[in-house]
This record gives sequence, structure tokens and C-alpha cells, in this order.
Amino acid sequence: MGHFIEEIIDKDLASGKVKKVKVRFPPEPNGYLHIGHAKAICINLGLAKKYNGTINLRFDDTNPVKEDVEYVDAIIEDVKWLGNVDKILFASDYFDVMYNTAIKLIKKGLAYVDDITPDEMRKMRGTLTQKGIESKNRNRPIAESLQLFKDMKNGKVADGALVLRAKIDMSSPNMNMRDPVIYRVLKTHHHKQGDKWCIYPMYDFAHPIGDAVEEISHSCCTLEFEDHRPLYDWVVVNGEFDSPPHQYEFARLNLKRTIMSKRYLKKLVDEGVVSGWDDPRMPTLKGLRRRGYTASSIREFCLRSGVAKANSEVHPNQLEACIREELNASSERAMAVLDPLEVILENVADSFSEKLPFEYEILENGEQVKRVREITLSNRIYIEREDFLPEKQDGFFRLTIGGLVRLKAGYIIEGTRFETDKNGKVVKVFAKLIEGTKSGHIAPDAPKCKGVIHWVDAKNCIDIKAMLYDYLLVDEDEQSLENQEQKQDFMEKLNPNSLAIANGKAEPFLSKAEKGTHFQFLRLGYFVRDSVESVLVFNKTVGLKDNDKVKVKK
Ligand code: ATP
Ligand code: MG
Repeated sequence: MGHFIEEIIDKDLASGKVKKVKVRFPPEPNGYLHIGHAKAICINLGLAKKYNGTINLRFDDTNPVKEDVEYVDAIIEDVKWLGNVDKILFASDYFDVMYNTAIKLIKKGLAYVDDITPDEMRKMRGTLTQKGIESKNRNRPIAESLQLFKDMKNGKVADGALVLRAKIDMSSPNMNMRDPVIYRVLKTHHHKQGDKWCIYPMYDFAHPIGDAVEEISHSCCTLEFEDHRPLYDWVVVNGEFDSPPHQYEFARLNLKRTIMSKRYLKKLVDEGVVSGWDDPRMPTLKGLRRRGYTASSIREFCLRSGVAKANSEVHPNQLEACIREELNASSERAMAVLDPLEVILENVADSFSEKLPFEYEILENGEQVKRVREITLSNRIYIEREDFLPEKQDGFFRLTIGGLVRLKAGYIIEGTRFETDKNGKVVKVFAKLIEGTKSGHIAPDAPKCKGVIHWVDAKNCIDIKAMLYDYLLVDEDEQSLENQEQKQDFMEKLNPNSLAIANGKAEPFLSKAEKGTHFQFLRLGYFVRDSVESVLVFNKTVGLKDNDKVKVKK
């Protein structure tokens, strides 16, 4: 069974009310898209696909003050990344239709020009329990309003001096219906229209008209627009559009420990809390992609999180599960050591170098394939610092003095002694390689051991920088920024440990990995090659298991 919007569409198609399903995704180009937008995009993509309909990407570019082409370009790229849209359109392309609709409303006595200030407007609007007060200009003669509106359009009116208001009902219990402003004077350059306009329509007026012009059949948006629906209907009915569109509301996607409003994300960028909109800690699509998320994993997450009618919060570990499952199946395996501790194999000659096959299986185009890569072993290796303890300990199956551990794809080694610096920190471990224990060639009488650790050949490895990420917000109360009070002080809830950088060692072939290639670093997690710079940077996408903590000290 489909979700509630699909049920509505099924009914509309069955009754003949709708012939063809046409949906749209209407972002305002005032920032970069985030995972919440992905949810809306995926819902609409899903509807267009299921019903063999169409989907438009329509920019709601009606407020030139906050909008920018930089955002337009980034949004187009991000939407295309998630799926195919039929058309890319701009609400500003319909400014003439909107203007003419406004004229029509004035002529019908359904709109008037007012000289009210925003302050007076607020006071006269009333409250939830108190009716609003009608403006003295409410019954201004139609001809006068027409002339004043034309003056507004022709640049004869200063910014804010006059507004056009819909004449609806100042005593409506719905505040949105109390003669809302539908046009204002704004002498601002528009990214597409240039200086053609000095009046701009308000969102609540522009949006239904955009939908009507494009003959959208199901206009899906988030719950906060529910109270705006009567105004939406008022505009399409009184604007006398053929095939009037209808609006349906679904619950927003809210993620715990995640800042999700463009306005606040912009603040993080502007104040340098993150390196940019594409910082891998950001919930933006650009950030997630750089973090190693694939479009398919995001689509899968949006699908799994469902389409609900009531708001709720999802923990980001559900998003992480989607990418982990995908990368577990498909990513190349490699060995890297993020907190290197040198181990000298005492019984191995300094000139020794052996080629060993490193084997693993991954899913490629739906099929399980075997991969073999050559790695080398010399008398000097690096292991993870935490894989060594001087003394044997119950339950610790890794390297100890006198204890055995297997080097993945290599031999069993036994710790013999170690050196420390003056602070007592272990700086070097000595071990011996045990003959007859080579992986795949184990002698019948060879000793056995429980633990297997990853390692790299110290004489044949490269330096890498691994970026280890944690959530941007501290987990305090495990809350997202739903209520206003929290929104105000979100800057104080920033997690100071959201980024740790590890200087590690890795297999040499990784230097040739292209940007965006995914790897499972054995026992460490999933990593993706970041932009190609002089240093080899790998971003940690997600750990091997849920709750994998950031381990490396800064
Ligand atoms: P923000 O608060 O981040 O600026 P917005 O809703 O103002 O978000 P728009 O560009 O106006 O951003 O949104 C475009 C579409 O994306 C709208 O239809 C909106 O309902 C939807 N959308 C935005 N955030 C979410 C979310 N968290 N979950 C689901 N849909 C969302
Ligand atoms: Mg918005």
C-alpha cells in the first residue's frame, strides 16, 4: 500500500479529477539544499515515477534580497544528482502572470493598495484570539488602487511605502487570511529579471500561481504550510485559473543532532564554524556527498523514513545505516593505520620483502566478485597503537609481549619487547614472525591465535590524512533544533569534537584513488577520497558499526 499522498492520487486518477500526475520541487535559491530537501525531492521524484507523471524543478525566486545565482547553480547540480527532473523553471518567469492576476483581483474588488507600515500591520493583524482591524484603505476605490499599484510597478513609490493586500477577511480565525500582503515594492536587482521589476510578489501569492501555470496536479509541501492552504486555494480560485492545483502537506524530516535550516547552516558557514557549505559535517547534499554519501543511499534513507502526516525526529544513525549497507557490499577494501605504531620483525632480514595476496569480495553490478591485490611485507610494519598492549590481558587478542596475533593476509607474529620514550609512551615494538603461519599456506603444526589485525608495510606505504567526523551538535539531550528557544542558542550547542584529524599510513595504491572513490579501511570504517591535493585526504563516511566513536586524538 502506498503512503497517504499516493492514496489521494489513486483516488484522483480513479475519479478522473486528475488525468496526469504533475509534481514539482520548489526551492528558494537562498542557500544550499540539505537532507530535508532531499526528502521533498525524493517524495516528488517517487510520485512522478510511480504514476508516469512529470516533475519540475521550479525556483521560488521571488525574494531577490536573499537570492543568488550561486545557489541556483548549486541546487540544480544537487537535484540532478538525486534524480531526473523534466524541466527547470523559475517562478520569476511568471512575474507577468502574477502581475496580471493582481490587476484582476483589484478589478474584482479583491485587492487594495495600503500604505500601512509593517509595524501597524502587526498590531492591526490581531491575534489568535482577537480579530484583526480593518485598514482605512480597505475600501479604497478600485480605480485608485489600480493607479497606485501601477505607480508601484513603475518605480514611483519608495520601498515599503505601499503594499498590495488581498481583501479577504480581517476576522478570519486563520491569520493568513487577514488581508495578507501579496505585493511589495523592492527596488532590488533580480538574478534573472535584472531591473525589470521593482515590485515583487509574496511567496503565498506567487507559489499557487506558479503551480497553476505549470498545471501541477499535486503540490506537495511540508506541514507548516497547512495553514496557508486556504490562501493558496483563494488565489487559484479568484485568479480564475483553469485546472486549479491542490496542495497537500507531509511531515518535515527532522534529524537529531543536526542543524537543518538554511539560515542556520549559512551562519555556520559565515562564522567559519565549518569550512563551507560542502564541509563533510554539514547535512547539505554537497557536504554529504563529500562525506562519501551516494545518491542511492540518500534515496534509500528517504524511502525508509516514510511519508507521514505528523512531525517526528529521526536519529542520523538511520541515514548512516543506509550508506553503511551500501558500502559494505560495494566498496573496495584497503589497509590503513590511523595511529601508527612501528613494529620491527627481529627475525626478518633487513633486505626481506615478500609479496602477499590481499583478497576480498565485493558486489559489483549486482554480482559478487573476488578481488586480489598484492601487498608487501618487510621487516618493518605499522600497526594501530591500540592493537598493542605490553602485557597480556583477558579478552585482548591482539599484540602483546609473549602473545600471538595474525597480520591480515600475512603471518602470525609474537611480541618480544618494546621501547618507550621518556614519558613512558610506547614508541617501538619488537616481534618475531612465526614460520609456517602464512595465510593460505598454514603448516599443520603451526600455532593458532584468535586475533587478526590490519597493518601496513612501513617500507612500502604512503602518508594519508584521515578526517574523522562526529555530529555538529553535542548530544546533551539528543535533540534537534525544533523549538525556537533552542534555535537561538544552537551556536552554544556545537560539538567541539566534530572533527579529528589522523595522520596515518596506508597502502601505496591509494595515492592513485580518484576523488570520490570509496574504501573500507579494514577494521576502521568506510572512507572516501577527498579532492586531489598534495596531501592525500580521506574523509570518514561512517564506521563499521553503529556507535563507532571517534578515537584519534587531535
Ligand atoms: P529551510 O528552513 O532549510 O530554509 P525551506 O523550507 O525554507 O527550508 P525551501 O527552499 O523553501 O526551504 O524548500 C523547498 C521545499 O523543500 C519545500 O517544499 C519544503 O517544504 C521542502 N523542505 C524543506 N525542508 C524540509 C524538511 N526538513 N523535510 C522535508 N521537506 C523539506
Ligand atoms: Mg523557505
